[in-house]
Amino acid sequence: RRENALRRAHEPAVTRDGTTVLVGTNVGGAGDAEAAVGADLAGLVRTEFCFLDRHRAPDVDEQEAAYRAIAEAMGGRRVTLRTLDVGGDKPLDYLPMPREANPFLGVRGLRLALARPDLLADQLHAFVRVAHDHPVDVMFPMVTTVDELVAARRALDDAVVTVGRGRPAGLRVGIMVEVPAAALKAPAFAPMVDFFSIGTNDLTQYALAAERGNDAVAPLSDGLDPAVLALIAATAGGAGRADHDVLVAVCGELAGDEDAAALLIGLGVRELSVAPTAVATVKEAVRAVDLTQARALAAAARECPDAHAVRELLR
Ligand code: PEP
Ligand code: MG
Repeated sequence: RRENALRRAHEPAVTRDGTTVLVGTNVGGAGDAEAAVGADLAGLVRTEFCFLDRHRAPDVDEQEAAYRAIAEAMGGRRVTLRTLDVGGDKPLDYLPMPREANPFLGVRGLRLALARPDLLADQLHAFVRVAHDHPVDVMFPMVTTVDELVAARRALDDAVVTVGRGRPAGLRVGIMVEVPAAALKAPAFAPMVDFFSIGTNDLTQYALAAERGNDAVAPLSDGLDPAVLALIAATAGGAGRADHDVLVAVCGELAGDEDAAALLIGLGVRELSVAPTAVATVKEAVRAVDLTQARALAAAARECPDAHAVRELLR
């Protein structure tokens, strides 16, 4: 089965009834991009991973080189550059943070970027330079309020002015949906974005109040919980209400679960971004999906009392 999947890895993933679902890869550096055979795009570049070993902040030139290397490894396929997502479980040496009692509820993701506009400006400057030569999506993590997105978009506009070559033609803007509030407010965000990318790792953690990586609550922290499915459905519903196309992606772990592909597509997801090694098999799972059946499956899953019942349904 895996051999068959690998043989077809470079073909698009189309459901039995003709709906194309993009299958991208999550990358932390150019090596991952090279490893992701058949990926339609890089659906999530975790830029914080590019500079984990640094003791001082990388300047604009260094950042540009790192992001450009990833874009070149993707060879013309779209690259989704996420702004720095540190704080919470991800400390960064050159960015000492005040101690917080609850770091996952504190200054992380876009909150930190907006608190350090100097760092955000440098990063967006580097993104825009690369976007003049490659198709780039800019993505903001941990967005909670529309005001935050307004401020982030303004910072991006400023970076376009700083670079001084006009707005790059292929530049698109999106947000991670990983805070339940953002999923529930999707209709308010939709007019301001080109895409939503659902981060099921954090979305699950926050919906179920179960810290990711804490083994003691791992059984609770299940992306198939019907509450998480309701938030994914809310995101897709909000996207559908905009008067332009808003693509709904999933880039959390759940996207790489072959058994979940039909469910996610039935909920309205049209892009899955997964670990480099999972691209081929997830594409193959998409090819087995029938959209009408997938929608019925999603509706049934949402009626389930718990994640266990959803998993039974998927078998
Ligand atoms: C997520 O939260 O699901 C996600 C993809 O982002 P990260 O794992 O980097 O927090
Ligand atoms: Mg996250």
